[in-house]
Amino acid sequence: MKLCNVEPTEVEAISVFVINCFNCADKHYVSLCKTVQEATDAAAKEGWHGYETDDEVCSTACPKCIKEAIQNEAEARV
Ligand SMILES: [Zn+2]
Repeated sequence: MKLCNVEPTEVEAISVFVINCFNCADKHYVSLCKTVQEATDAAAKEGWHGYETDDEVCSTACPKCIKEAIQNEAEARV
């Protein structure tokens, strides 16, 4: 048997977008998206959002940090 390289037409390039949580070092990987807009939409479905509270603004946060921010906000209002 003789081996050769795979057929170039069967090679597909995919983009992977990496979203970094501003609060912790958590990363979220979104692939199979073509644009940043698609990536941010996909991230939103996974619970990644920016948020704004009375005393804090965060451009990009992971679901865990958003949960914490919601709890902090609730406690601050008690
Ligand atoms: Zn986070």
